[in-house]
Amino acid sequence: MKPNIDDLAIFGGIPAFPEPLHVGRPNLGDRERLFERINDMLDRRWLSNNGPYVQEFEQRISDFIGVKHCIAMCNGTVALEIAIRSLELKGEVILPSFTFVATAHALQWQEITPVFCDIDPKTHTIDPCRIAQMVTPRTTGIIGVHLWGRPCDIESLEEIAANRHLKLLFDAAHGFGCSYKGRMLGSFGNAEVFSFHPTKFFNTCEGGAIATNDDALAGKIRLMKNFGFSGYDNVIYIGTNGKMNELSALMGLTNLESLDAFVAANHENYKTYQRELAGLNGVSLIKYDQNEKCNYQYILLEIDETDTQVTRDQIIDILRAENVLARRYFFPGCHRMEPYRSFFPNAGLMLSETERLVKRVLSLPTGTAVGPDEIHKICKIIQIVLAHGSEARERLSGSVVNNVVKPATIDRKPREQKLMAPVNC
Ligand SMILES: *Cc1c(COP(=O)(O)O)cnc(C)c1O
Repeated sequence: MKPNIDDLAIFGGIPAFPEPLHVGRPNLGDRERLFERINDMLDRRWLSNNGPYVQEFEQRISDFIGVKHCIAMCNGTVALEIAIRSLELKGEVILPSFTFVATAHALQWQEITPVFCDIDPKTHTIDPCRIAQMVTPRTTGIIGVHLWGRPCDIESLEEIAANRHLKLLFDAAHGFGCSYKGRMLGSFGNAEVFSFHPTKFFNTCEGGAIATNDDALAGKIRLMKNFGFSGYDNVIYIGTNGKMNELSALMGLTNLESLDAFVAANHENYKTYQRELAGLNGVSLIKYDQNEKCNYQYILLEIDETDTQVTRDQIIDILRAENVLARRYFFPGCHRMEPYRSFFPNAGLMLSETERLVKRVLSLPTGTAVGPDEIHKICKIIQIVLAHGSEARERLSGSVVNNVVKPATIDRKPREQKLMAPVNC
C-alpha cells in the first residue's frame, strides 16, 4: 500500500489498480437463466412488439412497485419524452438543473422550455420553496428528480402542483427500489419514469419504463410508444417507436431475480465506505434515510475544499491516475450545457446552491464489481491525499506532473450571495 504521497501514481508511483475501476459497472444476474430465456425467445421467434417477456416484465415491475400500470420502453430518455407528451406539457416546465442532461433535453426536444429551479442543498433535490418564483402563465408542469435515489419532497410538490393546476412528473431514473414514506417510488405524481441503462444498478441493457396509476394516461402512453396503433392497420394517435424489445425484457426479468443481491452489495459497499471515511475532515458521504427502502446505488462524497486544502478536481485527478475513475456527477449543471447555456446565460444567478454543489460532489465506484478490498484501497488513497492536502494542492497547481502542465484549479472566490431568498416556507 502507499505509505506516503510520493507513492501516488500522479506523482510517479504505480497505480493502485491495474485495470480501470468504473463508477457504475453493470450488475449482472444469473447467466444460466439468461441463456435459457434467450433460447426460449429464439425458439419462439418473437423479438419485439409486446412479446411475452415484455408483458411479464411489466407485470413484475408494477407488482414490485405497487402501481397499476408499468409501460416498458426502449430507454429512459424516450420514456421521459413520451411521458411529457402524454401529459400535454407545453410552454415552460420547472425542473432542477442538477440532474442528468436528459431530463432537460426531453423537454427541449419537443420545444418546451426547461426552467431551472435551485435545489435544497440538504437533499440535492428540487427545492419546493423556490418553485413559486419560477411559475409564469406559460408554466404547465413540474419535473422532480429523485436524485441518487433519494426521493424529492413529494408531498410539497404535490401540494404546489395541485394549487397551481400543474402536472407533476418524476424522473425516477435513480429511484428504482426506493421508497417515500413507506410507498415505493413509481406511484407518485401523474407518472414516474425509470431508466434501466447499464449505469443504473438495475439494467435491461438499454431500457426504461413509465409507471402510473392513471388508466387513461397509461392507455395513451401505450398508443404513443407504438406509432399510435390500436390493432392492425388502425392508427388513432400520433406516436413514435418507444417499445422495449424481448431481449431487454428477459435481461430485466433475469436481473430482477438478483435485485436483492445487488442492493445488498451496494449497501455493504456503502457501509464499508462509511467506516473507512469516518472522521475525514472536509469529506462527507451521502446519507440515506434508514427508515426507507433504498438501493444505495451512489457513493457520493461532498468535498469541502477549505478543509481538505486539495481541490475536488485534484482529488479526482489523483484517483484517476490510480485507475479509480471517479466522476463529477452532474457537472457543470444543465444550465451550463448547450443549448441552455446560450438560451439562459444568467440562469446561474438563480441557482446558487446548484452552482455550489456541482463544484463539491464526487462519485466513487460501487456495485457488484467492487468489494471491501477495492474500497479499502480507494479510501486509503483519499486518506493519504487528505493527510497532505496543501502539499498535494501545491504540487498539482500550475506545476508539471507526469509531463502534463496542470492549470491551477483552486477557486477561492467568496460564496456568491443569494439573490433570492426562499419564500412561503
Ligand atoms: C440515466 C438517466 C436518464 C436517462 O436514461 P437513459 O435510459 O439513459 O435514456 C434520465 N435522467 C436521469 C436523472 C438519469 O440518471
